[in-house]
Amino acid sequence: MKTIILVGGGHSHLHCIKKCQHQEENVKWVLISPSRYQYYSGMFSGYTEGIYSLEETRIDLKNLCKDAGCDFIESTVLSIDPDQQHLLTDKGEIFTYDFVSFDIGSRNDSMEIKGLQEHNLPIKPNYRFPEQIGKLHNSRKTVFIGGGAASIEMALSLKAWKVDKGYGDHSITVVHSSPLLEKAGSFSSKKMTGIALSKGIDLHQGRVMKVEGAQLYTDKSEILDFEEVIFLGGPKAPPLFGSSVLPTDEQGYLLVNSYLQSVEYPNVFGTGDCATLQDFPHLPKNGVTAVRQGPVLWRNLTGAAAGGKIVPFEPQKRYLAILSIGDKRGFLTYGSFSLVSGWAWLLKNWIDRRFVGKYGE
Ligand SMILES: Cc1cc2nc3c(=O)[nH]c(=O)nc-3n(C[C@H](O)[C@H](O)[C@H](O)COP(=O)(O)OP(=O)(O)OC[C@H]3O[C@@H](n4cnc5c(N)ncnc54)[C@H](O)[C@@H]3O)c2cc1C
Repeated sequence: MKTIILVGGGHSHLHCIKKCQHQEENVKWVLISPSRYQYYSGMFSGYTEGIYSLEETRIDLKNLCKDAGCDFIESTVLSIDPDQQHLLTDKGEIFTYDFVSFDIGSRNDSMEIKGLQEHNLPIKPNYRFPEQIGKLHNSRKTVFIGGGAASIEMALSLKAWKVDKGYGDHSITVVHSSPLLEKAGSFSSKKMTGIALSKGIDLHQGRVMKVEGAQLYTDKSEILDFEEVIFLGGPKAPPLFGSSVLPTDEQGYLLVNSYLQSVEYPNVFGTGDCATLQDFPHLPKNGVTAVRQGPVLWRNLTGAAAGGKIVPFEPQKRYLAILSIGDKRGFLTYGSFSLVSGWAWLLKNWIDRRFVGKYGE
């Protein structure tokens, strides 16, 4: 009997757990994750805006595992010994594996900004998300740090909630060091800038250097007041791999080959935000990538456990992304193309509900 341990209830692991339901082979499956609930980040914006209830945005990992015949352990993995094939958790448990896979996501914080950690609202690991949104709803002055999709989408969703509840005068600021949605090209960037300004979001171009008291300081000598500040300026590596002997990239993400295996330990796998593909180091860290890696991970874990074939993951060049901009309207991008419409939001709503529904049955 081989033991395969899945660490983290991320997107790729959801696929594997669902698949083990139909697995007849001699494998013991274990999932270790800090909360029985996996909150789906595609629906963070809709929950912030008040469109979805908490229950609609989450997957019950304990129930999913029960149905699949997979053991569920509600713990956080603190360290890995890949030579002894051991994992240690925050509850002092030690688990031994034949194969282990990490899909533990990333962090939304930044050590580069002095003083940020004392004030930042951490929404990752994602079970921390609901408590932080309550704080954003109550905040009269909120600053989002970051000009990418997550930051601007959350700012627009919070604004829509505030307007709906009659708190339209609560200020929402986005500080961004590069143009908004820079990766989607200048046409989409300008369009999003126009939308944000028309909705009453304060935009400040600059890099946040320091957070002190209830103020943050930018490299453009601006000082901005806040009640709540949240860093969404791109994912950061989880601390777990930095304290292990597993090879990582310079940022501390687990380094994997195209088979999603650690480049030094073939019985250690990694997917989603927490892993960097050696051959595609700039592949975006988003839910789309983590979802697409799920079926490959499943084939490779079961293949490796059976001493059989494993297959490479082939990244996509372009992918469809839809951001919610409030009032059930969506901002759709594909490469450098973008459009804004109500049906784009309906499509996003359908995709997101279908994803969560698949693991809720
Ligand atoms: C506000 C916001 C909105 C976003 N919207 C979108 C979107 O619309 N579309 C999109 O594609 N991407 C979106 N993203 C990015 C997306 O959230 C991530 O890329 C995606 O969640 C990564 O998935 P994952 O499977 O790697 O990990 P996650 O979904 O983050 O799951 C990681 C899991 O691991 C668990 N875990 C963490 N640490 C440990 C540990 N030490 N031991 C055990 N378990 C652990 C966590 O509790 C969690 O269950 C958004 C991000 C943010 C911040």
